[in-house]
Amino acid sequence: MTSLEKIIHLAYQSKYECTNDKSRAFTDFDFSKIETLGQGTKHDMCTLSSSPRIANRSEILQDVDRPINFHSFTTTGCSVLLFKTLFTNYCTHDCKYCQNSTEYNGHKKIYSYTPEELAKVTISLYKRNYIDGLFLSSGINSDENTTTEKMIETIKILKERYNFSGYIHFKVLPGVSYEYIKQASEIVDRLSINIETPNNNYLSELSSTKNYMKDILKRQNFIKKLEFKKKLPYGQTTQLVIGACGESDFEIFNRVIREYKEMMLKRVYYSAFNPIQGTPLEKTSEQPMWREHRLYQLDWLYRIYDFSEKEIKIAFNEDGFLNNKDPKLQIALNTLDSGIDPNEASYEELIRVPGIGPKSAYRIINFRKRNNIFKREQLLKLGVRIKSASPFLKINGAEYIKIDNWIESNS
Ligand code: SF4
Repeated sequence: MTSLEKIIHLAYQSKYECTNDKSRAFTDFDFSKIETLGQGTKHDMCTLSSSPRIANRSEILQDVDRPINFHSFTTTGCSVLLFKTLFTNYCTHDCKYCQNSTEYNGHKKIYSYTPEELAKVTISLYKRNYIDGLFLSSGINSDENTTTEKMIETIKILKERYNFSGYIHFKVLPGVSYEYIKQASEIVDRLSINIETPNNNYLSELSSTKNYMKDILKRQNFIKKLEFKKKLPYGQTTQLVIGACGESDFEIFNRVIREYKEMMLKRVYYSAFNPIQGTPLEKTSEQPMWREHRLYQLDWLYRIYDFSEKEIKIAFNEDGFLNNKDPKLQIALNTLDSGIDPNEASYEELIRVPGIGPKSAYRIINFRKRNNIFKREQLLKLGVRIKSASPFLKINGAEYIKIDNWIESNS
């Protein structure tokens, strides 16, 4: 049984016995809505579809294709399993890439939960320890405020009636009023609104109904202000669709930097464009997963390794695109002329060496307080990926291989 089938099965099992409430909210419930509304969140990311440690496409797809249960990595680094769903798959917007858009309405059956139904499906799964939390997104039925009101009502039923204490990631709908964002911020763990593209010009190519400044950036600013006042435990995130309208990686990255600096985002997620049959972009080329993966790597260099914008720009080609090569290696090849001595290098110098991450850099610094590093095998034990790091290291004056020779032998 797939995880989706298990979920439907479990929800069905709990038809008359979920929680202590015997009101039979599942009478006449159409269980196919669980599947359809779960599939509707397929392209909404709340975790890495690829990480610097996952380069293998099959592993990436395993994660991306799981529409319901999804691991999300919170800021504390712990992993939670979420029930990902839309509240409704009807939408008044016309985003050309989206299977929930008005453009696609003729191709799909429209489903919506009632707050009571969704709360019951969620609590059934939660009480059986099948999920740790809920990722609640939605299309827009009638208008953004009415739909958000129902989404909030779902969370209130879950928390107040069923004492749900799991994690909640709540999608803010474009254009929704400040008052509803405020209400949501008081009862959920994380809020997000998708920016989708690097700027308004690109967004207007994809949607004639959404306004970048008014419907999205202004809402992000509301969330930022609310976060300052009453800390959302896991802050604010966003997502971009990669490659639906010809935008370059450089344009994407410039926007991402502004998002981190100006909106104080915790995370940005990237979703490689994948055309959906029946949508206006069905003939647009699918974007390779490696593009998404390389953007995650750059994001990582900026957020975790603290690389400067100037350094990161080295990774782009003259057209502003990334190659399918490790950006950290590209930057090292352009900035390091000779090997770095791990006995003397600072933390900042160490983490610029391919194969050395923050953890191994700290281990090297602690280790050398007591011991001299005199051979590469010692670094291996400290977590360094020796094959990647060797061309950039000089241990006690000795280079294992000169960078120029290494480039030659690898070109
Ligand atoms: S607003 Fe969201 S759900 Fe609606 S069409 Fe656009 S991307 Fe899809």
